[in-house]
Parts: sequence; C-alpha cells; structure tokens
Amino acid sequence: MASPTDLRSSDALEVLRRVFGYDAFRGFQQEVIDHVVAGGDALVLMPTGGGKSLCYQIPALVRDGVAVVVSPLIALMQDQVDALTAVGVRAGFLNSTQDLDARRVVERAFVAGELDLLYLAPEALGTRGVQQLLDRGRIALFAIDEAHCVSQWGHDFRPDYLALSMLHERWPDVPRIALTATATSATRDEIATRLKLTDARHFVASFDRPNIQYRIVPKREPRKQLLSLLRDEHPGDAGIVYCLSRASVDKTAELLTANGVAALPYHAGLDAGTRARNQQRFLREDGLVMVATIAFGMGIDKPDVRFVAHLDLPKSVEGYYQETGRAGRDGLPSTAWLAYGLQDVVQQRKMIETSDGDLTHRRNLAAHLDAMLALCETVRCRRGQLLDYFGEKATAACGNCDTCLSPPESWDGTVAAQKLLSTIFRLDRERNQRFGAGHCVDILLGRATDKVTQYGHDSLTVFGIGVELREAEWRGVVRQLLAEGLLAVEGDYGTLALTEASAEVLGRRRTVMMRREPEKVASSRAAKPR
Ligand code: ADP
Ligand code: ZN
Repeated sequence: MASPTDLRSSDALEVLRRVFGYDAFRGFQQEVIDHVVAGGDALVLMPTGGGKSLCYQIPALVRDGVAVVVSPLIALMQDQVDALTAVGVRAGFLNSTQDLDARRVVERAFVAGELDLLYLAPEALGTRGVQQLLDRGRIALFAIDEAHCVSQWGHDFRPDYLALSMLHERWPDVPRIALTATATSATRDEIATRLKLTDARHFVASFDRPNIQYRIVPKREPRKQLLSLLRDEHPGDAGIVYCLSRASVDKTAELLTANGVAALPYHAGLDAGTRARNQQRFLREDGLVMVATIAFGMGIDKPDVRFVAHLDLPKSVEGYYQETGRAGRDGLPSTAWLAYGLQDVVQQRKMIETSDGDLTHRRNLAAHLDAMLALCETVRCRRGQLLDYFGEKATAACGNCDTCLSPPESWDGTVAAQKLLSTIFRLDRERNQRFGAGHCVDILLGRATDKVTQYGHDSLTVFGIGVELREAEWRGVVRQLLAEGLLAVEGDYGTLALTEASAEVLGRRRTVMMRREPEKVASSRAAKPR
C-alpha cells in the first residue's frame, strides 16, 4: 500500500506530468487545484469523464498532510487505491469490508503521515473512532466525492452524507472540495447548503457531451427494438441497458443471451457475490452488455461503453443525464437510446400518486417527471433542451440527436384533445365512471368491445367520434396530454381523470401542439462512420 518514494512537489503542473503522465490540465482543473491548494473551499460540477479526480488528487500531493476522500463507492475503493498505488501514490481506505488487521495498517500509516490519500465511507466519518483517528493525524483537505448524494430529492440520496456538514465545524481550517456530475442549479444550491459550503467557489463545467447521440423513440416492442439497435449499430460493443424492475432486467438479459448477445444482469436482488462478479467482468472483458436497474453504474469508469439504452423512462432528467453519461467517456461516438411510451407515463404518474411521503415530496417527484416528459415530447433539439435544463445556453441545433437528424412534425392536436377529454368528462360526470386509456380509445374509435357494450358505452355521443386517427396516434394523444398535465392518472388501476387545466382545452382557451413521430427513426449511421 505505502510506497517509499516521495512524489510530493509544490508545483501542480509538475505533479500532473511526473506522477500522472499527462501534458496539460483539462478545462478548469488547474484553477480548482490552485484554489484548494491555497486553502479555499470548492464545489466542482463536471460531467462524467471530465477529470474530477485529479482536482483533489493533485492537491493531496501538493499540500501537507493526508487528503481524506469521502466516497459512497465502497466497492470501487480497492480499484481506486490500486490505480493510485500503480503510479506510486500512497493511498489506503477504511471501510466495512476490511478486517481488523488491514484497518490497523491503514490507521497507523495515516497517523504517521505515510499516506497521501485516505478513502473513507461516509458512515465511517460519523463514528467516534474514526473522528478520533483523524484528530491524531494531519489532514490536507477533505474531498467529498459524488456530493449529490446529500440531495434528498436525488435518486442517490445517502442519509450519511447529511452528517458531513460537521466537517466544517470540527476541522474549520481544513479546505473542502465537493465534486459531482449532477448539474442543476437546484442540486448545486442544495449541496452548498447541506454541506455548509457557504464560502466555496463554484466551478461549473459545460455539461455537453458532443460525442453522445441522443435518441428517444416510441416504444412498441421494446426488447425487439433493442435487439435491432444492437444488431444494426452496435454489434460486439460494450453497453448498458437500464430497466425499471428486477424482473425486466432478468428477462431482458435472458433474451439478449438467447439471441447471441453477451449480456449479464445486475440488480439489488442478486447476491453480492454475483453482482461483484458481473461488474468485474463488465469492466475487464470486451463487448459485454450489462442489463441493470439504476443500482448499477455510479462511479463505473469504463471508457468504451458505446451505448446506454433505457427500456423504461427515467424518473428525472438528472437521472437520464447521469445514466446516459456513462456512454462514451473515451470521447468516441456513442448512442443514448430511450424507448418511451404511454405506459411509462401511466406507470410513473401512478407510482408518484401512491408513493409515501408528504405532498411536497410528491410535488417534487412530479416536477422532475414533468421535465423528463418534456424532453421526450419536445420537437426541438434534444441536446438543446437538455443543456437548457441544466441552465446552459445551448447554441444552434446540434445535428447529433434524433430530432436534428430527422425532425418530427408538430401538428395541432387541439380537436383530438377535446374529443378525448370530453369522453372522459362524459364518463365521469354523467355516469360517475373512470376508465383507463385503452377503454377510452376503444370508445373514440367506435369499437364495440365486450367491455364497451357491457357498460353501454356504444350509446354515448362520443362513441366513434375519433376514427380519423389510428390507435397508435390516440395513444400518443393520451401520452402527450398526460405529459403536459392536461390529463391525470388516478388510483391503482391507472384510470384517467381531468385536471384543472383540462378545462382550458375543453373551453377552447388553449391549443395543444403535438409531436408526430417520423415514420423512419433516424439511424446514427450517417453521423457516425465506423
Ligand atoms: P470523472 O471523475 O470526472 O468522471 P475522471 O477523474 O475519472 O473523471 O477522469 C476521466 C479520465 O480522464 C481518466 O481516465 C483520467 O485519467 C483522464 N484525465 C483526467 N484529467 C486529464 C488530463 N488533464 N489530461 C489527460 N487525461 C486526463
Ligand atoms: Zn440536436
């Protein structure tokens, strides 16, 4: 673990070249490093692959003492320490996976100042033992990695991160640097507040990932669509497929394997050994596809992930950005592909509706979902919309997303919306009944199904008033109204109900523009010679 050579130097650029073997700093790495070396606090927002690690690893070698790195990624600590040891940096970690002897060795090295970096799990910092240990050594700085874990609205929330605000009180003279790839200004403010980084300088990089091609396609038979994507564009490539449920992960992994794609499952329902084994294989072998829930991926540093596919809708734009950001860390062309359909909206709205937590919490979840839906339904450049969301001014259309490559038409869906909403209105107000999307579409199309005749819905005035659209188009109308909050999903059965805003459409006070999917979905071939 400890290496005798002293790599320390007061010159950051010299350390970059001699220890890490790179010629020049990237982006604002140098500014961050200078600021932290001089004792300032910093909040660093940089996309995945941007080079956050050097922002604390170099100050660790320039400042006196040991840099203490707080990271939730216990499973990766050994890898991180190995990578540093390989270039001669003295690093160690303390976490729950270690035996007592290994701990003692690291503790002694820390106290003796024979380490450059010490990695700690956040829960360890809450213990008296570790706090007393830290008091006995000399701390160069605190680095708080994956700092968005302190955000209670984020999907990576770790309660132990909340206690990190005490670092400032207990060691007021030690500079702190918090780092994350999560980009919204709301998250940034929350990190600064919760970690008491009041005087920290903020360093915010551009979050654009120009080599990633964003595509969001209508969901029909998602697993078949996925298979064609892999066959046509990514044969033999490494990639990640995200599914919402464990069952779906297992089923998808089996299907891919049966079709000759080397795929592995990953979700919290698998035992720790299997998970670790699958993760290691994904990292070390070429061309494996990891099929996973969002439990997989944080901190995974695999440069040649060529695609990230979502079979289900992410709950937020932040989540979508993080997950797709795992593609193309090496800068080469990569695909972010998402299949999205009516059922996704119904399911997620229902999950929010029936979730625990108070009204504020549910509103917050709904707001996050709305932004994600807006990204799916937009007719403008996806990248532009994404960067806008993160508060960055997007320039011209990017030319490397599906809406740029084959622009969707928009059409005036106001009349269609009125027909659908008045069907729901009739059922609700006149008969006090509520139904799901499928039944409402049957009524509009004038289909006398068993259910329709059983309820006498074939005698409604709205029966058959929507034959000008195909079923798929009606499902698109329902989806887009749900996405815009002009329609709501209720209860366990996902029945449709009007919202306050529905009245604006019914009363002709609001027009509704809709997205018509292009017949042929853009292939990335033209933009991506390979
Ligand atoms: P992040 O933590 O922001 O996702 P990393 O710190 O893991 O990113 O860096 C991503 C990759 O870029 C790593 O392979 C790293 O060695 C490399 N890298 C970082 N800074 C530089 C630099 N100045 N020059 C060349 N490569 C760099
Ligand atoms: Zn674009």
